[in-house]
Amino acid sequence: MVADLLMHGVEKIEASCLRCGESWDAPITMLPSATTLAKIQELMICPACGGRNVGVTPVWPGDAPKTN
Ligand SMILES: [Zn+2]
Repeated sequence: MVADLLMHGVEKIEASCLRCGESWDAPITMLPSATTLAKIQELMICPACGGRNVGVTPVWPGDAPKTN
């Protein structure tokens, strides 16, 4: 959930379009704290091609933990 990510200092996610390869950062700080990563992924729309097949990865601050 967003709340867990925020707790670990994550303030944005990196989204990448699986259709055209476009990638961009999206802030998560304004999302409801119960939002899941899967839900964020569902909501993402590629700004370049409008594709909805978008992968999301949390952007960890500093040293990224090796958990996924
Ligand atoms: Zn795209």
